[in-house]
Amino acid sequence: MLPCELKERLKKEYCYRIELHAHTCPASGCSQITPKMMVETYAKKGFDGVVITNHFFLENLKGETKEERLAKYISDYEETVKAAEGYNIKVFLGAELRFPPNCNDYMLYGADYDILSTCYDYLDKEVSTFRKEVKLPDSVFLQAHPFRNGIELCEPSILDGIESFNMHPGHNSRVGIAARYAKEQNFKIQIAGSDFHHPDQGHEAVSALRTKVMPKTSFDIAKILRSGDYIFEIGENTILLP
Ligand SMILES: [Zn+2]
Ligand SMILES: [Zn+2]
Repeated sequence: MLPCELKERLKKEYCYRIELHAHTCPASGCSQITPKMMVETYAKKGFDGVVITNHFFLENLKGETKEERLAKYISDYEETVKAAEGYNIKVFLGAELRFPPNCNDYMLYGADYDILSTCYDYLDKEVSTFRKEVKLPDSVFLQAHPFRNGIELCEPSILDGIESFNMHPGHNSRVGIAARYAKEQNFKIQIAGSDFHHPDQGHEAVSALRTKVMPKTSFDIAKILRSGDYIFEIGENTILLP
């Protein structure tokens, strides 16, 4: 089979395209993308789904009480779900977590209010404590962009995998080194994400998770990632097999 035929066959087989890494404002202080802009942007690109992975760490969460902070965080996701009514695009809840003492980020898929509430109680503790004490059998927990400047490699045994292909145009995520590291460590899960934050920078929809079946919930995304039955698309035309 010619490579181009194979590519077309894979695209047809893995026909659903989902963004795994996207930030909205105000929940992510660093993003300029409102829930409405998020939906419009990805609908225009023909995506089937977007996971909203806003920053989840103490300095980024706004509000006085835990309940207020969680409510404000979740409300961006809910606004995005509402904005998606009338579009053929599904919005999922994820999160990008951070724990002291460093600036490492971790992607979480398979999230709901109760899980985030549990995560919240560990935001002042180390990631190793969180992973030891909190069992998340229906979620996946991955180190985001592990080879960016300022990031420390996390102990592999407490990870389900890594985000090898972080496509944020404002950072060098050293994706080649990350992909090689993922193979060396034999991580079961590698992901790609656009880390979309800003308009008008060619930042949106740079990568997609392509799946055979359309996930219905955030937990279905975790299940697909665990199954290994997925591929990636980088840009509009490059297929990657994780
Ligand atoms: Zn950010
Ligand atoms: Zn991010």
